[in-house]
Amino acid sequence: MVHLPNALGLLYEITVNEPLQLPLVSATHCAAEFGQLTCIPKAYRDQLTTVADTSSTVSDCSKTIPCIMLFTMEVIALQSGSSGNCIYVEAGGKRLLFDAGISGIQAESRLAMHGREIRDVDALIISHDHRDHAQSMGIYQRKFGLPIYVTPATLAVAQRKIRLGKLHDVRHFEAGTTLVLDSVRIHTIPTPHDAADGVVFVVDDGTHKVGILTDLGHVFDELDEILPQLDAVFIESNHDLEMLAGSFYPESLKQRIRSSRGHLSNLDAAELLRRAASPKLKWVCLAHLSEESNTPELAIETHRRLLGDRFPVYCASRDSATPPLKL
Ligand SMILES: [Zn+2]
Ligand SMILES: [Zn+2]
Repeated sequence: MVHLPNALGLLYEITVNEPLQLPLVSATHCAAEFGQLTCIPKAYRDQLTTVADTSSTVSDCSKTIPCIMLFTMEVIALQSGSSGNCIYVEAGGKRLLFDAGISGIQAESRLAMHGREIRDVDALIISHDHRDHAQSMGIYQRKFGLPIYVTPATLAVAQRKIRLGKLHDVRHFEAGTTLVLDSVRIHTIPTPHDAADGVVFVVDDGTHKVGILTDLGHVFDELDEILPQLDAVFIESNHDLEMLAGSFYPESLKQRIRSSRGHLSNLDAAELLRRAASPKLKWVCLAHLSEESNTPELAIETHRRLLGDRFPVYCASRDSATPPLKL
């Protein structure tokens, strides 16, 4: 029997005569962080070279003993932008993929580059019906066996617009509700973006909260309530206003991007962060940058100009994965 935790760093009782399904890094980090780990699942014992003294307690695996377990949170943006979005989050022992906007091969290989196996992902969660977020959900499910979490309206529109193929494991949620996967809560927040039923996410493992906030439409009221709670955030910083005005996009597309149902500019995102980010915010990763009307350098410069060096600012790439960003 194993009592799984519902928050980080608390004291739990576990019985150690069966291996726990925890990422190795969590157990290692736990021992290093607290120095109080009194037992480690047997399956990991031989690999934990950084733990000085585990043998005495681990060998006693017949009874329930106290144990500190800590889950770290890690985020890898596999890609972000109008050419495809896919963000990987490890939280509370769960592996989550947000959106399926890149090919199955790309998602699999970029996760593998960071030592992750896509078939181990517990949930594929879709934000909205646009192609750059939804197009490969059927492939991820059929090829890798991932259950799809999606709102009924998003799925219906995506199925009309995109050839998703046959889906056999769909778990519906309503926009604005919270998904609960064991100890992890995923809050979904409806957006005014021009999709049928778009949402953004806050992943909450009981100690940390990370926001995945792209395709926002405009800076709507709830964002000012959400930002102060976050320990880290992926935030849309789509375009530079001057570059957009001077781009070769047709006027109708420029208007759509600038509209209240389009995308946030660098300035929109930076002003929101300046106003609402709390001192506990550990990092910001700028996301969904436009290829034609933004550059990573310009986006970061705009944020630095408004925010100074209050926190590290990273930039998700349109064609490669970020390193794991940790909490
Ligand atoms: Zn998008
Ligand atoms: Zn969109």
